[in-house]
Amino acid sequence: MSTDASLPRSSWVPTSGAESGFGLDHLPIASFSAEGRGRRLGIRIGAHVLDLARATEAGLFDGLSVQEREALRKPEMNALLALGAPSWARVWSRLRELLGPDCPALRDHADCKSMLVPEWGVSLRVPAHIGDYTDFYASIHHATNVGSMFRPDNPLLPNWKHVPIGYHGRASTIVATGTAVRRPSGQRKPPEAAEPTFGPSQSMDHELEMGFLVGPGNPMGQSLSVEEASQRIFGVLLVNDWSARDVQAWEYQPLGPFLAKNFATTVAGWVTPMLSLGGAKRPGPIRRADDPAPLPYLRWPGDWGLDLDVEVWIQSAVMRERGLEPMRLSAGNYTDMFWTPSQMLAHHASGGCAMQPGDLFASGTISGPTKESRGCMLERTWRGTEPIALPDGTERKFLQDGDEIILRGSAPSSGGGRLTLGECRGRIEPSQH
Ligand code: CA
Repeated sequence: MSTDASLPRSSWVPTSGAESGFGLDHLPIASFSAEGRGRRLGIRIGAHVLDLARATEAGLFDGLSVQEREALRKPEMNALLALGAPSWARVWSRLRELLGPDCPALRDHADCKSMLVPEWGVSLRVPAHIGDYTDFYASIHHATNVGSMFRPDNPLLPNWKHVPIGYHGRASTIVATGTAVRRPSGQRKPPEAAEPTFGPSQSMDHELEMGFLVGPGNPMGQSLSVEEASQRIFGVLLVNDWSARDVQAWEYQPLGPFLAKNFATTVAGWVTPMLSLGGAKRPGPIRRADDPAPLPYLRWPGDWGLDLDVEVWIQSAVMRERGLEPMRLSAGNYTDMFWTPSQMLAHHASGGCAMQPGDLFASGTISGPTKESRGCMLERTWRGTEPIALPDGTERKFLQDGDEIILRGSAPSSGGGRLTLGECRGRIEPSQH
């Protein structure tokens, strides 16, 4: 088998033009369903999806172990995640062989057309059964901006540069890209109001985040080193941590976010494996001279951050009616996040919390130093004081019913081009109240 994934070779499946971000150097995985096909795993190549169940049944993975072949026939990623990095490398090596220029096994197979389905015909699902979901707060720009709005005299709390801050989220309301999101109702009390009231949130927001899918975990009572954690991260996917800011402002003290963030979290369908992100890895974590050094359990000389371009786009209901394209709300980069993915996972397990295959943790809102790189409306409009004009003539302080938020991203490929991250899309439906 060929194991060198860095060579800029082309697939025999067309991957040029708009599909160039889904070439042989990428091969993201998703759980999908399509007409005549129950839920299953697929690999994106160009504008096509390789049906892993059918390809396995056709014998194209016979060089892999029984466990690996069984994992490829499951509807979700958990069994594959549990197998760990050596199996992931074998599977993707075989995929690059099958889809590469020198191998006729799939290309000339009598059932090739039934194994490679058009991407437009598939429906993307949440890629794994996510048992637990945790959301971190790893952007120093986001933490400082939000802190300065709520606590002007004390924006960054004294623990922030020492401990990766996070909270346990809610796995039951994680939905796949394209799923409608209902505006939540909740309890809120504007500062000028005498009493709290219950009703539809008046300050719906998105949060642009990067999510990480966990592979093999750790037994309860045992921890993971940063290096061990880095080997247990399967891959990345864009995440929108929808937030009801008025509910959040009233409830978040003293125990942190609760109902303001547990009504919906949208994830992209396509998961980019870490083994395709070699060209995006950068030495990390980034620290300034006056920042405290991480405690020893959060330190590993081989640790890495990720150079990922990330964007938020918006399209209102009126824009859709008038045929206006989505407008870009913000554009940033993941590079200067304060905590690395491996630090977040190692910290999560450091007290003995059991991590399991299919657990999801997200980075927290990705914001940069400029206004244009702020990854949520709260920061982008500075709590509604700097509204944003849309091409339909309206303006936004927070999100309105009918607004669709689209998260997009890309990464440098080790082969020289760019990988397109799977997009994460969700539209706000009116409250049921
Ligand atoms: Ca968040």
